[in-house]
Amino acid sequence: MIVLIVNCGSSSIKYQLYDMPGRKVLAKGLLERIGEGASALTHRRGEEKFEIARPIPDHKTGLSLILSCLADPGRGVLKNVREISAVGHRVVHGGERYSNAMRIDQDVIGCIGDCCDLAPLHNPPNLVGIQECTLALPGVPMVAVFDTAFHQTLPREAYLYGLPYEIYERYRIRKYGFHGTSHAYVTNRAAKLLGKPEAEVNLITCHLGNGSSMAAVRNGKSVDTSMGFTPLAGLVMGTRSGDLDPAIIPYLNSKQEYSRVADIDRMLNKKSGLLGISGISNDMRTLGDEAAKAGASSRPQLAINIFCYRIKAFLGQYMAILGRVDAVCFMGGIGENSAAVREQCLAGLENFGIAIDLQKNRNFPRGEECDISEAASRTRVLVIPTDEEGWIAEETYKLCK
Ligand code: AMP
Repeated sequence: MIVLIVNCGSSSIKYQLYDMPGRKVLAKGLLERIGEGASALTHRRGEEKFEIARPIPDHKTGLSLILSCLADPGRGVLKNVREISAVGHRVVHGGERYSNAMRIDQDVIGCIGDCCDLAPLHNPPNLVGIQECTLALPGVPMVAVFDTAFHQTLPREAYLYGLPYEIYERYRIRKYGFHGTSHAYVTNRAAKLLGKPEAEVNLITCHLGNGSSMAAVRNGKSVDTSMGFTPLAGLVMGTRSGDLDPAIIPYLNSKQEYSRVADIDRMLNKKSGLLGISGISNDMRTLGDEAAKAGASSRPQLAINIFCYRIKAFLGQYMAILGRVDAVCFMGGIGENSAAVREQCLAGLENFGIAIDLQKNRNFPRGEECDISEAASRTRVLVIPTDEEGWIAEETYKLCK
């Protein structure tokens, strides 16, 4: 069964074509800068890479270019796009309604529309992707896989803020959590690696990339997570601040430079985090290189230290919440690739039953799943390359097969 996965952003479309079951990737690509004149499609078939630069005014034209690439005799992998049996859409916000992937119907489309207010940058382009795919592939079943769904099992004490209850009722302000497909996928893999049923595993999953979040998982279900009402909350990220004292916002707003709330919002989302602290870069590799040159008291090193400190603080919170932790899991660009960050986050946790094997942590084969804990560590430490698209393909296949 051929399954197409589509992730529509405001000016981009990411896609992957799978042969299911088995999650074999047939082709994938990224169309960028839609509507900006210099649009570019990078399309991959196995090791082959094709670059197509041409103006793409809108998502409809973009999608039709992608579909024609997939069925192109020179670049494609299909004889005809009618071979596509289902389409899985990544949708950022499913509000409080969806705790699972859903076959898309008018009701689901209505709910995604209702959540546009909660995710104004993401849900509207997600909807456009669904509408355009429905027009281009009539009769093909579509599935929505929500970034928020995995965290819908949070108990009320975890998802409510200490605000007047009416604010939650009136404006739906609560913790939703994001990166759900990654936390769900890694939970599923960790259970297999631990040799336990998913419904019996307690985990702390750490998705560390340009955007970062952690989740506390009890009996296979998310019971707390570090992102909140929006993906700005929690850990220090590439360019996002993570948690801060809310009183900072009105205080800054009283200053001339930040008298517009939109400027504060931009600073918190685009100029903070690793980039803001280091003053150099949001990229962990660059910071590691610069810190090695500039020394322990340099700002790149300070950015790394703050990043790791916050992760360790959340680990402590989640250990206290869970009581028993079977494994701490690392995924995402930093979580999978930075031995130094993993080592720094877990340093000194031996008394809490967490000890990593420093050699294994540094030397295991890149891109593979690995248990990097010491044999005596009560809690296992697992590195698990995440596969969000593969998980969306799995969910789509399950609902449409
Ligand atoms: P993601 O958003 O998941 O693609 O992750 C991007 C982040 O992963 C960036 O900060 C990269 O610098 C970081 N990253 C990727 N490879 C490495 C590596 N080998 N060592 C340290 N950080 C890395």
